[in-house]
Parts: sequence; C-alpha cells; structure tokens
Amino acid sequence: MLPNTRAVEQQEIPPTVISDVTQLNPVTVSEVLVPTTTREIVSAVTRHSGPISIGGSRHSMGGQTATPAGLQIDMRHFDRILAFDSVRRTITVQTGVRWRQIQERIDSANLSVKIMQSFANFTVGGSLSVNAHGRYVGFGPLVSSVRSIKIVLANGDLVDASRDVRSDIFFGAIGGYGALGVITEATLDLVENARVKRHQVTMPIREYRPYFFRRIRDSTAVVFHNGDIYPGDYRTVRAESYIRTSDPVTVPERMVPLGQSYALNRAAIRIVSDWPFGQTMRRVVVDPWRFRGPHVAWRNYIASSNAEELEPASRTGATYVLAEYFVPVERFDEFVPAMRGILRRHRVNVLNVSVRHARPDTETLLSWAPREVFAFVLYYKQNTDTASQRVVGNWTRELIEATLRIGGSYYLPYQLHATQSQFLRAYSRAPEFFTLKKRLDPTNKFRNMLWNKYYHP
Ligand SMILES: Cc1cc2nc3c(=O)[nH]c(=O)nc-3n(C[C@H](O)[C@H](O)[C@H](O)COP(=O)(O)OP(=O)(O)OC[C@H]3O[C@@H](n4cnc5c(N)ncnc54)[C@H](O)[C@@H]3O)c2cc1C
Repeated sequence: MLPNTRAVEQQEIPPTVISDVTQLNPVTVSEVLVPTTTREIVSAVTRHSGPISIGGSRHSMGGQTATPAGLQIDMRHFDRILAFDSVRRTITVQTGVRWRQIQERIDSANLSVKIMQSFANFTVGGSLSVNAHGRYVGFGPLVSSVRSIKIVLANGDLVDASRDVRSDIFFGAIGGYGALGVITEATLDLVENARVKRHQVTMPIREYRPYFFRRIRDSTAVVFHNGDIYPGDYRTVRAESYIRTSDPVTVPERMVPLGQSYALNRAAIRIVSDWPFGQTMRRVVVDPWRFRGPHVAWRNYIASSNAEELEPASRTGATYVLAEYFVPVERFDEFVPAMRGILRRHRVNVLNVSVRHARPDTETLLSWAPREVFAFVLYYKQNTDTASQRVVGNWTRELIEATLRIGGSYYLPYQLHATQSQFLRAYSRAPEFFTLKKRLDPTNKFRNMLWNKYYHP
C-alpha cells in the first residue's frame, strides 16, 4: 500500500464515515464491505436491497464513492494480479489493484502501463470509472487501452464486456462512476518501458498552441508532455516533455522509492500558496531549482510518482482541490483569457494550471473528450467554511460556463458544483447513459453523491 493514503486512511475512523482526500465530503454509510473475492461482491450485491456505493483509493473529490446510509464496497483489498502476458503485452487484474502494484509486477519485463494518471496511487477500478488520462502524447482517455472488463450488475449477474461483447455495458461502465455495477476485473494493454529525457522550455502562453502542434502532437519520440501555466498573470507556460533517449539514466531507480519524505514539496506548497510573493518565488526560485540539470529516467520511474508529493502538511481550515476543464484544441486561445479573467476576479489561490492534450474518445457514453481537447487542470487552495465553499461554487460554475460556450466540457471526479443543466450540456449522451442505467439497475441500487445529484430516475 502506498504511503500517500495517510490522509485518506485516517478517515477510516469511524469506518462508516467515508471521506475523500480533500476531507470536504464526509458521508455516513450504514455498512462497509471489504471483499477479497468476486463471490463476496456478487453475494453482497444480490442480497443488499438498499443503496450501494463503490470506493477505490478515494481520490475523487465530491463524494463519488459514497451514499448516505448505503453499503460501501471498499475495493482496496480486492487487488490481485490475475494474469500477465509479457508477449501479448496485456495484464488482467482485480480492480482494487493500484497502478503501482502493476508497475512492480511488469517492470522486470521492461513493460509499462499504456495510459494512466500522473500518479500511481489510484485503483484501476477508480481510474476506469472516471476514464482517466495522463500526460501521454498521442493518446486520449484510458478506455483506448482497455481490452475487456468483468462487471457485477445490480441483479448479481457477473458479465463480460468488451468492444465485441455487451459493448453497451463496456462503454457505459468505463467513465460511468460506479452507476452500472462493480467492475471486478480488467484486461489492459501494456507498452515498452523506455528511457526518457526531460526537455523544457518556458514561453509566452500565446506561443504554446503552435509550439504544441509543431513539435509535440504528432511526435512518436515524445512520451510525456504537459505545460504548466504560472498562476498570477497566467501569461507564461513552462512546457515539459519527456523524450525517448538512448542516453544513460541520471536517475538509477527504476521506480520512485516508497516511503520517502516529501517535506521539501510541502515547504514549496506553503511558499506558493501562502507567501505574499509565492507565485513569483515559484517561477524564479523553486522551479529552476526543482528542474535543474539533465534528467534521464525510466518511463516507469516517471509514471510511479506518488500523490503524496502534493499532500500539504495540514488540511484543517483550508484544503487543496483539483478541477479540470476540457477545451477543443482550436479554442485554446479563447479559453485562456476567459480563465484568467475569472480566476483573477475571484482572487482564486491557484497553485498550478497544468495543460495536457487528449485525442478524442468517441466510444464511451460519458466521454469528456468527444473531440480533440486540451485539458486545463487547476490545483487550488480553498478554505473549508461554508461561505468559502459557496464562493468556490460560483467561480467553478463560471469556468464551466466559459468552457461550455466554446464547445468544451469539465471533469466529473471533482467537486459537484455544476448545475444539472451544465452537466447535461457537457455530457450530451447522458440521457442515453441514464436509459442504460434504468435498464440494468431499475431500483437505482448503485448510487453515490455524484449520481444523487445528477440522476433522477
Ligand atoms: C492528486 C490527484 C491527482 C490526479 N491526477 C489525475 C490525472 O493525472 N488524470 C486524471 O484523469 N485524473 C486525475 N485525478 C483524478 C483521479 O483519476 C480520480 O479521482 C480517480 O477516480 C482516482 O481513483 P480512485 O481509485 O481514488 O477512485 P475513487 O475516488 O475511489 O472512485 C472514483 C469513482 O469510481 C468508482 N469506482 C471505483 N472503483 C470501482 C469499481 N471497481 N467498479 C465500479 N466503480 C468503481 C467510484 O464509485 C467513484 O464513483 C487526480 C486526483 C488527485 C487527487
């Protein structure tokens, strides 16, 4: 188990209060089941007539893993690797497994996970259910790397689903936030683990889109890429790429060592979010120091980053939260000033805006990238009192509106500030998804705070 779960696991006392990493959304459930076998899951779903929610590593930030007075199926110990084929480059896992466990299994075969988030702490089930993405160049959401899944439906049936078999369930459950059933197994594609070398360049933001299209988008050499927009004036971006290389590694470890101290990161978070000139300090002092010198590492090293590096020293009184907006690539230059205006007007304490790119996903029902998009990932600090939460709701809805106006969307694992109408405009196939849900789960067994808000059977 990764050490980053410290904050989350403290929440387990009492075990019937389910919280997430932000600590903003405690939900009291009636019972928690921690299965280790499929049979236990089938039996619990069959026998339990009330609401059921499903929890992975609980890094979603709006109550997506729990529903009041429900049964919570905590998947974190349902975590065996069932089959690994290094020749076909596939792996089959129980879905409570975390990316890190997969990396530990496949690294000696010099293979890597094809698509995953920037950190290795998340469960495969939680990642499939949000249809996650990373910084991988040339790919979109996770679904494109999934061969098949098994899922326990509301009636207790254990069903295989893939592009060829029960494809309606496959494309509904991936990105479906636990609404259709418990995904118990997944078979995923793997790729070669390569040595990669960091390349970075800082530029005015107006130059970023042409730079990305000229140098990054179609490159087969670039493995990871993102742009970090410096908050404050939001006019400068540090573009970071990791490019395949045959140079010797400067980082000897094949994966990020477990159990290390992130005290320096914590200090940097405090400086950037709390000091009067913190954002300037970051650009002028912190980042040049963090990203100094040549950096050649294994892909699995970069991909095994631990979310603990973002964890602040305390979340009492104030907490750190993510939000994400998806913008059609051709509208990048329109979104940036709109975002800048909203964040500055509301004096949002933004620590970072990371820009990533995703190829379209025209398959899943709740696709957040029905067309090619840039993703703007905001990491911000907010106070936890009710008034502050209301203020965050206001600017979040403004940002969602700015995104929707130019044909974009927003990400669902974060706080549930979007209105019903914004949700339906962002996810135009939601009615189709809800029809499928009604057919597979007529009594609305599978619930959580996300679906309690947007699904009204
Ligand atoms: C620090 C941080 C960094 C992040 N970086 C990224 C990133 O780079 N890219 C990105 O795309 N996202 C990112 N996220 C968001 C993250 O991908 C999601 O929150 C993801 O759901 C986390 O996985 P989890 O195991 O914690 O899922 P949980 O939060 O536990 O669950 C998420 C949803 O999945 C459902 N679920 C979980 N397991 C199952 C299952 N077996 N069957 C059916 N439903 C299930 C839950 O009911 C819930 O609705 C980040 C979040 C944090 C906190």
